[in-house]
Amino acid sequence: SLYFDYCASTPLHPRAYRTLMDSAKHNYANPSSMHEMGFEASLRVEESREQIARHLQVKATEVIFTSGATESNNLAIVGVARAWKKRTGRNPHIILSQIEHSSVYQCGKQLAEEGVEVSFLPVNSNGIVSPVSVKESLQANTILVSVMHVNNETGAVQPIAEIAELLKSEPQIHFHVDGVQGFGKLQVELEHIDLYTVSGHKIGGPKGIGLLVAKEYIEIGPLMYGGEQEQGVRPGTTNVPAVLSFTEAIVASLEERQEKFEYLTTLHGLVCSRLATIPGLVMNSPLPPLSSPHIINFSYRGRGVTSAMMISMLAKQGIIVSSQSACSSKAKLSRVLMAMTQDETISSSSIRLSLHEMVTQEDAVYLVAAIERMVSQLKSKNKFDLL
Ligand code: PLP
Repeated sequence: SLYFDYCASTPLHPRAYRTLMDSAKHNYANPSSMHEMGFEASLRVEESREQIARHLQVKATEVIFTSGATESNNLAIVGVARAWKKRTGRNPHIILSQIEHSSVYQCGKQLAEEGVEVSFLPVNSNGIVSPVSVKESLQANTILVSVMHVNNETGAVQPIAEIAELLKSEPQIHFHVDGVQGFGKLQVELEHIDLYTVSGHKIGGPKGIGLLVAKEYIEIGPLMYGGEQEQGVRPGTTNVPAVLSFTEAIVASLEERQEKFEYLTTLHGLVCSRLATIPGLVMNSPLPPLSSPHIINFSYRGRGVTSAMMISMLAKQGIIVSSQSACSSKAKLSRVLMAMTQDETISSSSIRLSLHEMVTQEDAVYLVAAIERMVSQLKSKNKFDLL
């Protein structure tokens, strides 16, 4: 089979793999233990934290290790909003976009049930949030804006630098960026971003590890209780091998970013130029630089054609793809595509291809041929007349 679902998860980078194996063997002591072996494990974790902080140009105390991006996003949204509410006794206002990953979006829904005022920003037909709409939504009690860097379904790049710039003059409003799909693909500057999420398994690191950069002036309430780890914000025994391996993946991602970006751009161009010639396909991803070159999203406008049907037709040809994020793959309509197109046919018949430097140009050519065969099969069935 050929795998084109690298947005859902990646294989371990060889450096991350070696570190994971080595550390699982040697650093098994609990880093919170008071003995020599615990101290040694804790030293490794703190060295990792400092290395990451240097690369991200933040302070080591601003790097919080978590179980993954879902937890980081929950801490950034729910942790920040609840802490503010507890301190002031009032309900804050927060702003999210309609196309956030469910680990941000559902936090907004939950907080709304708890009395927090939540605005969900719309997107344009390219699936991009407008900084003007952020500005227009600000209220006296706004404490948080969360807009992702790269959308995980369409690859659309959000104007995070512009939003950071406009929020610079509002120090009481924290800006959170879910950087999961942008990290290691696009350059990012954290100077005016207050909270930033990265996931291990999307960048060649292990699953079950992520981080939240939280600038030192931010108050975050814990979501769990029972330990002093990670400054009490994230209690529980630190996963030492995962932290060390994740650190390798972060460093490798940044070192190799430019070279990979150029290769992904070539692959993206190859796939997109051929897909554009297949009648019936609608491209949902805007073209680079409005989208990141590792994600290509398209729909097929045929009566009764669904994402699930196409995923299985491609699987029969050995092609592994998905439609939405793995976390919301059971939903029939894509919330992201609905926000972008308001079109149910497009939003229920999308395919997301996600690329990686391991994909060869031959693989990409085979992928397009498989999609061509799928479309001709769909067309040969009468009931799937083009709409
Ligand atoms: N945010 C985005 C944009 C994602 O694509 C994902 C994964 O699908 C997540 C958050 C959740 O990441 P994790 O699996 O580390 O919890």
